[in-house]
Amino acid sequence: MRLVTFDTDSGTRIGALRGSGDVVDFAQDPELPTTMEDFVARGGEALDRAARLLTSAEAIPADRVRLRAPIRPRNNVMCVGKNYLDHAKEFAGSGFDASQRQTVPDHPVVFTKALSSITGPNDAVTVSADTTGTTDYEGELAIVIGEGGTSIPAADAWRHVYGYTIINDLTIRALQKRHIQFFLGKSAATYCPMGPYLVTHDEIPDPTTLWLRTRVNGELRQAAPLADLIFPIPTLIEAISTAVTLEPGDVIATGTPSGVGIGFTPPRFLAPGDIIEVSIDGIGTLTNRTV
Ligand code: MG
Repeated sequence: MRLVTFDTDSGTRIGALRGSGDVVDFAQDPELPTTMEDFVARGGEALDRAARLLTSAEAIPADRVRLRAPIRPRNNVMCVGKNYLDHAKEFAGSGFDASQRQTVPDHPVVFTKALSSITGPNDAVTVSADTTGTTDYEGELAIVIGEGGTSIPAADAWRHVYGYTIINDLTIRALQKRHIQFFLGKSAATYCPMGPYLVTHDEIPDPTTLWLRTRVNGELRQAAPLADLIFPIPTLIEAISTAVTLEPGDVIATGTPSGVGIGFTPPRFLAPGDIIEVSIDGIGTLTNRTV
């Protein structure tokens, strides 16, 4: 199922796409939750109800809704750094990795983005507020956690994956370097575009078969198979849940491949008026414009 959060004239709603792209509003079933976080937490029972609604209820034409980020997790958006070999090398060679000890880490490098950085598909990203002029893009697959847990073994991890979405892990590189960590450089308002859909795990049995592509103003900058992840999804869930209790709806961005702006000489940072598109086969395209 392709789940969406969207605005209508009567407020923010959750729903799902029909094959045509039209949107079925879950508010037509008063037994369903009104936020995606609560819907995800209800698990299979809510999905079954929603599936019945999808076959019978009225749908809203796709061009009459404004999509929002599909989910607002309870906890900060969790992210993994240096999880593709070629990107780890370009980052190490860029001079912006103030945390660097080794190019390829022994364990996942985990940081978070503030919830206030989340924005929706097609929303504007305010790079003009970055006085350093060093805003960079990072296209990423994000996992959405279903059943939460602590110390989840990798062998059980897939059971905790509810679905997938796309994140552009926008970064102010100068802050990332200056403060010798990730959080400040990653957390500016609008610097976490997410969406356009939350695609349930059953639609994507094996995400390692998918490719991720990022285009800036139509130019292909990033193209990599998700099979290239240094630390695969079960390893990430095990490592993070060993330290943090994962809750339903938590979002884990899995890292970005090579081809970010600081991988070029000189770096190619974003400027107002750029259009960034992050696409993953079977999930969709997340498009945002900078202002
Ligand atoms: Mg990233």
